[in-house]
Amino acid sequence: MPVPILLYHQIATPPLRKTPYRSMIVSPESFRRQMGWLKRLGYQGLSLRESMPYITGRKTGKIATITFDDGFTNVYQNAMPILQEFRFTATNFFVSNQIGGSNEWDRPLGVLPASCMDIEQIKQWLSAGHEVGAHTMDHVHLSQISEKQALEQLSLCREKLQTLTGDAIDSFAYPYGDHNDKVRELVRQAGYTVAGGTERRRATANDDLMNLPRLTIRRNDTWLHFLSKCLRR
Ligand SMILES: [Zn+2]
Repeated sequence: MPVPILLYHQIATPPLRKTPYRSMIVSPESFRRQMGWLKRLGYQGLSLRESMPYITGRKTGKIATITFDDGFTNVYQNAMPILQEFRFTATNFFVSNQIGGSNEWDRPLGVLPASCMDIEQIKQWLSAGHEVGAHTMDHVHLSQISEKQALEQLSLCREKLQTLTGDAIDSFAYPYGDHNDKVRELVRQAGYTVAGGTERRRATANDDLMNLPRLTIRRNDTWLHFLSKCLRR
């Protein structure tokens, strides 16, 4: 059974005025409704790690994988209580040089500043049963830097998160969905076992584990958009 891997960024009240990438900010109310629909349809929301047996076909069940990119504090504040309420788990992909920092990589694009979780919050994220994934040290375009730099971005991020959490870091997400053959090979070399991209469909056992498709959920997705992404793509 194909597994929808949902991709969120920020869970917060979106700014009223038009700002770049405002569509990536989903309100807590919408997020709660979306989790509610999953529950009512009989889906269990799981982190990427816990979804792997279902994605690879070793287990069957109605599963939706819940992922967040960038490690925003508003996910800790606004999404974590809702996940707990529904007994769902999720994966957040952290930018290791911005732990306790902010979305500096977004600033040249005119995106409003938003803080990233600090160490204490990441530890609580983990102890609530969620997964810590990696998203490079500096949120870089991996195909646009040298091989050596790319491997460093991948390996040092993994090492830092492992030291910080005391847990194995297996899951990775490509910043900007940017990758190619070489980059995927480097991700494997850095020790990750699974990586999420941005191809828009559900995941199946035939998918390359270094490029799992994910479905971006946007601010103004209606319930129909949301359900058709989960059920049909
Ligand atoms: Zn990102």
